[in-house]
Amino acid sequence: MKYCFPLMQHAGAPALPSVKAGDRVRRGQRLAAKPDGKLGAHVHSSVDGEVTRVGEAFIEVEADGVGGAGGADSVGGVGGVGGVEGAGGTGGVGGVGGAGGVGVGGVGGAGGTGGVGVGGVGGAGGADSAGYVPVEGSSVLELIENAGVVGAGGAGFPTAVKLARPLGKGGALIINAAECEPALGHNIHLLETEPARVLCGAAHAMRTLGTERCIIAIKAKHARAIAALKDVPDAYGDISFCLLEDRYPSGEERAVVREARGVLLRPDQLPFDAGCVVLNAETAARVADAVELRKPVMAKDLTLAGQYRSAAFLDRRSAVFRDVPLGIPLSLLIERAGGLSADAGELLAGGPFTGKETHPGDPVTKITGGLIATMPFLRAKEKLGLLVCACGADEARLRRIAAAMQAEVAGAEHCKQSMLMPNGARKCENPGNCPGQAEKVISLYRQGARALLISNCTDCTNTVMTLADRMPLQVYHSTDGALRTAGAGLIRRK
Ligand code: SF4
Repeated sequence: MKYCFPLMQHAGAPALPSVKAGDRVRRGQRLAAKPDGKLGAHVHSSVDGEVTRVGEAFIEVEADGVGGAGGADSVGGVGGVGGVEGAGGTGGVGGVGGAGGVGVGGVGGAGGTGGVGVGGVGGAGGADSAGYVPVEGSSVLELIENAGVVGAGGAGFPTAVKLARPLGKGGALIINAAECEPALGHNIHLLETEPARVLCGAAHAMRTLGTERCIIAIKAKHARAIAALKDVPDAYGDISFCLLEDRYPSGEERAVVREARGVLLRPDQLPFDAGCVVLNAETAARVADAVELRKPVMAKDLTLAGQYRSAAFLDRRSAVFRDVPLGIPLSLLIERAGGLSADAGELLAGGPFTGKETHPGDPVTKITGGLIATMPFLRAKEKLGLLVCACGADEARLRRIAAAMQAEVAGAEHCKQSMLMPNGARKCENPGNCPGQAEKVISLYRQGARALLISNCTDCTNTVMTLADRMPLQVYHSTDGALRTAGAGLIRRK
């Protein structure tokens, strides 16, 4: 099977190929390097095999043997992890295992990390040179950079860069365990099954940042994950919890900083400006792997949800896949889920709010967090007004959804807290706290809209609904299809 490794799986510049067609590569070997002096990350092979193509945007490796996706654990609804199915994953990679799913003992295949402790900074302890090529480095930061660790929450920011600047007095590491996209469950699953691995990564990050303070930002509803974290013996540092409400976007980085530190950052500021660094839970686990096991990033945890055919999906609608090898096509995961239902609509990479349209041939990357097969879009008879959120589907995506609903678009408005940044991206001034929507809704009505298609956060959606009830206007939300098919509660749809 061919594995495809994009040179751009992170923020910054594309990695530069360090192999050529015909080269033999081993699992864990560096395929492409971060360009000197630029923001970026190395890319490693997740498989033994032969390089068959070095393109401008990706490197292709033909794997030895038969590969496979990691095993799936069931997710009993949003955030609630159900019982373990079977005895773990069945997928071996290139004959060396390495990517099995979470088994009964909570440990992956060869090179798994179930034994990571909280102590033992530095050193090569646990490196499995038989299962992968270990990364080299004489400091924690070097190991993290050489392992290619980037933010696993979706932004892909290189972790070594985040950790390079020590925090001042009173600084804190924040572990973002909000898992704020509805229908996704892999971060909570990780915390429930391998809390010590996450806290081990947090300990390395804290020491590197020169702080002993760690705040875990997590929704209050995830009681089992919180209990598992509290049960880890001898955890390093002063660990506290910031309990978040169950609403979107509680995990947006500046929302997390606001809740955990009481500081509302401007859209152009970084958490460092509030004396903190934010790491996603899975990123912390990958830091532990890099430092304790000298293991490069070769796999990704993710959640599948929606219109798949396997019995588990018909029953529960979502499943967590742990340690899925980077580079495998999404089609392999779809196969593991029994194939797509005939009536599936679009395929989304990511969560219902921020997911992007994807295709079965696309590969799993370091930032793939979800794969949602939605139901077909409803048909709308009315002219639609688009109300666009900076933290949800953008205007282009809303226009595509409107076209799929066979509806005419009367006009589009951005939420008034949506700020246009110099790089063309949009950021919310105060994520998740509604500034009022009457002016925008009335404007859309005047432009001829007789229904709304919105991508707003939970708080703003509630506001829009109250207004729409009075006018009256039908309201559709960009997440409706994904949430309905994932068996999760709708943000709302009237
Ligand atoms: S306040 Fe507006 S821009 Fe901010 S998250 Fe809510 S809908 Fe989006």
